[in-house]
Amino acid sequence: METIKITHPAILKEKPDPDKLGFGKYFTDHMFVMDYSTDKGWYDPRIVPYGPFMLDPASMVLHYAQEVFEGLKAYRRADGGIQLFRVKENIARMNRSCERLSIPQIDEELFFEALKTLVEVDQDWVPSAPDTSLYLRPFVFATEPHVGVHASHSYIFAIIASPVGAYYAEGINPVRIYIESRDVRAVKGGTGYAKTGGNYAATLRAGEEAEKAGFSQVLWLDGIHRKYIEEVGSMNVLFKIDGKVITPPLGGSILPGVTRSSCLEILKSWGVPCSEELITVDDLISAAESGKLEEAWGSGTAAVISPIGEIYYDNKHHIINGGKIGELTGKLYDYLTGIQWGRIEDPFGWITRII
Ligand SMILES: *Cc1c(COP(=O)(O)O)cnc(C)c1O
Repeated sequence: METIKITHPAILKEKPDPDKLGFGKYFTDHMFVMDYSTDKGWYDPRIVPYGPFMLDPASMVLHYAQEVFEGLKAYRRADGGIQLFRVKENIARMNRSCERLSIPQIDEELFFEALKTLVEVDQDWVPSAPDTSLYLRPFVFATEPHVGVHASHSYIFAIIASPVGAYYAEGINPVRIYIESRDVRAVKGGTGYAKTGGNYAATLRAGEEAEKAGFSQVLWLDGIHRKYIEEVGSMNVLFKIDGKVITPPLGGSILPGVTRSSCLEILKSWGVPCSEELITVDDLISAAESGKLEEAWGSGTAAVISPIGEIYYDNKHHIINGGKIGELTGKLYDYLTGIQWGRIEDPFGWITRII
């Protein structure tokens, strides 16, 4: 494996106030960068001062959106150590996204070394206040200067890092959700299972309209029938209906979330019945009306668990669990974040300590 060269900036930045981090607004002193060309493959892995890229205006990513990304966090333990959560899953998923977008694969060992080295170099940026962490954003984009549609012959792989607080300003308070029946996020056969920028660009319009109407997120329906529930915002979605937890099955249009699969494994280990099954919006609404929809939440690395307090569909508001966080949702949040921050023992082998 090629060694990662490290260059430091002349002046280090001032750290932001740990109580006012927000999400994704501040960036550390360094970033990881590596180049690709058809002749050389991936080459020159390096840690350099955080700063702008020079891009040719014809760079293919700017025209054809050939790019993929990942999102994971480095967590500060109470003993001062730093750890990652299920990092191998993020690495493998990024390569699956690359495969879908015709981007060359990245060596998994080098990818892990890159994440680890960046966190080590910027370790003073890993915050320690409750619910804060260092968000890591690996991404690859096409740089070949060519206005013509084909897979690029050159790429940049980079990782940037951002100290973050809670994803929602409201904290773990339940959010209001708008069920979207015009725009769709993804279709089977498309790129829904890949973390690629274009998927998100296509969701902005519905998201903005929902926000204007006072909702925090959009609940996406499938692109073919506009009938089956898929995801919520950029999170997976789980429901507790009549004592059982259900979530839509991964079928190509749904992003296979690490948090989603962690929720399912934890619930199974607790003996809570759960299953991956199709759920129609009509069934969801009837469950809400009959009081069988006991709890609902979104899952994703950024917000971890985001309880849903209200859904809006067909001009009707449906309140879930009195608009309060459900008992199981709360228990799951405490347990999962307990493992992530190292407050409780990890029985699943999900944690990698790096410092
Ligand atoms: C990243 C993402 C998720 C959540 O995945 P995690 O691995 O749990 O962070 C869910 N849906 C979409 C569309 C995403 O981009």
